[in-house]
Amino acid sequence: ELDVQVKLASEDEMGSLAQAINSLAADLKQYRDSRAEFFVNISHELRTPLTYIEGYIQVLRNKPDQTASTLQILEQEAKRMRLLVNDLFDLAQLEEGKLALLQEWVDLSEIVDTTIQNVKARANEKGVKILFEEDPVSLVYLDGYRAQQILLNLLDNALRYTNEGMICIRLTNREEHVLLSVRDTGIGIPQEELPYIFDRFYRVEKSRSRDTGGTGLGLSIVKKLIDVQNGRIEVRSQAGWGTEFVCTFPLSEEGKSE
Ligand code: ADP
Repeated sequence: ELDVQVKLASEDEMGSLAQAINSLAADLKQYRDSRAEFFVNISHELRTPLTYIEGYIQVLRNKPDQTASTLQILEQEAKRMRLLVNDLFDLAQLEEGKLALLQEWVDLSEIVDTTIQNVKARANEKGVKILFEEDPVSLVYLDGYRAQQILLNLLDNALRYTNEGMICIRLTNREEHVLLSVRDTGIGIPQEELPYIFDRFYRVEKSRSRDTGGTGLGLSIVKKLIDVQNGRIEVRSQAGWGTEFVCTFPLSEEGKSE
């Protein structure tokens, strides 16, 4: 004969079970809401350039004398869509843990130099000086291409939100870590907005981004790219004074992702 014992849960146990279920339900609701909001955001971001493209195709039809300027706008809007789709692709891969990393010992200082070259012309146009200070830094175990993507995003933002000022990039050697800091003297970010700036599509001023050319995904990608390489990112900022992002990368192979 089988000896089956049924143990009744105590009232305490039932209570904590109910609590666990409620909290799970709340998480699920939040997940659903944020998913829905994400799709609304994507649709909105893609619809805007599409509306421009459709409109300017009509202009091309009706006013053939304006071909050159119209083509320029069409090109710009297509580029905006391309940037957004590239960002969405990276984000999807990062969120699913599917981004393939090619980690090796890289010289961050070299990466900083190359990235500065990339934005130099734009910095000159905006009257922004770029300074680079560095400790002698050992090699860091990172995906070089992704490290450049991180820095380019931070520099892009620093430039986007700074007029006639300065951007200072600093590489600092700590015992176990390398710190990469990007500091600007731009418009800054209000204190109460700081906790949200790494969220997908979060912008301090909702309307600002279209004029300044961002996708609203840059910082969420940066944060995830750093997380998967066991680094950290912190931000300090004050409206009117400027902003500093500090990335910390482990110096040893501890930075290897599994
Ligand atoms: P975006 O493409 O809109 O720049 P990001 O994800 O890169 O999106 O940044 C999110 C928001 O954080 C920006 O819209 C902007 O409001 C704010 N931000 C980011 N970097 C800076 C900076 N260096 N100075 C001021 N504001 C910044």
